[in-house]
Amino acid sequence: MEHAWLGTLPEGLDGVRAGGTPIEPGVALDVHEGRITAVRTDVAAPPAGAEVLRGLTLPGLANAHSHAFHRALRGTVQVGSGTFWTWREVMYAAAARLTPERYHALARAVYAEMALAGITAVGEFHYVHHAPGGRRYADPNAMGEALIEAAAEAGIRITLLDTCYLSAGFGQPPGTHQLRFSDGTAEAWAERASLLTARGHARIGAAVHSVRAVPAGQLATVARWAEERRAPLHVHLSEQTAENDACLRAHGCSPARLLADHGVLGPRTTGVHNTHLTDEDIALLGDSGTGTCMCPTTERDLADGIGPAPALQRAGSPLCLGSDSHAVVDLLEEARAMELDERLRSRTRGHWTAAALLRAATADGHAALGWEEAGTLEAGALADFTTIALDSVRTAGTLPRLGAETAVFAATAADVRHTVVAGRHIVRDGAHTLVADAPRALAEAVDALRG
Ligand code: ZN
Repeated sequence: MEHAWLGTLPEGLDGVRAGGTPIEPGVALDVHEGRITAVRTDVAAPPAGAEVLRGLTLPGLANAHSHAFHRALRGTVQVGSGTFWTWREVMYAAAARLTPERYHALARAVYAEMALAGITAVGEFHYVHHAPGGRRYADPNAMGEALIEAAAEAGIRITLLDTCYLSAGFGQPPGTHQLRFSDGTAEAWAERASLLTARGHARIGAAVHSVRAVPAGQLATVARWAEERRAPLHVHLSEQTAENDACLRAHGCSPARLLADHGVLGPRTTGVHNTHLTDEDIALLGDSGTGTCMCPTTERDLADGIGPAPALQRAGSPLCLGSDSHAVVDLLEEARAMELDERLRSRTRGHWTAAALLRAATADGHAALGWEEAGTLEAGALADFTTIALDSVRTAGTLPRLGAETAVFAATAADVRHTVVAGRHIVRDGAHTLVADAPRALAEAVDALRG
């Protein structure tokens, strides 16, 4: 490797305001059976038989929050005005046309787009479980299995966050579109989710869609399921103020408080968005070690607001990043957006170093998805990495020793030259090696969903 960011931060720094960024020139990785067995730095010339990666190599990027089918809405929901809630109606219409076959084709193409953007693991927050009207498929996990298979075919890892989604709102039965999402009760959800099995590239986690979608009395069932398996547990949290207002009316407390009182928070839990929080909410999340998944490109697209990421991190909530609605699939953009949004709000610069932002996009994202052994380039880690061109129009002229800064503040997904998962090249010289024509696969899969 010409240059590498090894993904570890200097001793004693928590990633906030760390000075300098450890970029190594001339790095050789030994890989055996999908894992890194040795990392050698200051290698003057490539060892015999080595594959040379020109550019800046980073640990694989983790996309910690995805709804693959939202990719079908890109560009089509930008006409006219509206809110999150009007956007949601368009999204439901797309969900209504999904079948296991169509979802497989779309997700395979979306995951190929992710691989081309340097993403080596995705957290799929999956809630379209059943056929329209709520009818069960012969295999009750036909949809989830389609997503796991799609990730295998695109060459990336997946954590299927099987999502419990039971109600339209506090005390409301599911609406027509939501019948596909509901198992009826959390017990029935747990029974179905228990049939899913981990395999080489796939792990199984759980999700509470939101405090709107799972009645308070059933939250503990989902939390217990995840606890018993030591599986990741994700939950959409306070993305919109309307959710907070409704929760306050129904339960007299904030969504974060409700989750805390029902055992949902903890170090294996990640709150997605965490946008509209009180000081008490921030303390609840931080003290419990609950993570935060920021999705800046979606949050700006849906006019959600800017979440208090610096305060959450200071309180003890590790940060990760997700492309969520896939308005953009570019984890480098998500990383810089977290910093740049905070600059706009605070009118000061430098809330995170580039290394800390990359850490959220790599090691901490993988940890949030239950892949603790990925996200750094060190002996014993999974051999998942991606290489960014340093000779594109965006990155040319940047300083190699400031590689992390180049990756976060200059490069885009278009600069990804190679992506390697478990030692296997799935993107080589900017082309996917398994999905021959990813743009065409995307176009066809989206067309099929439009009908
Ligand atoms: Zn989401």
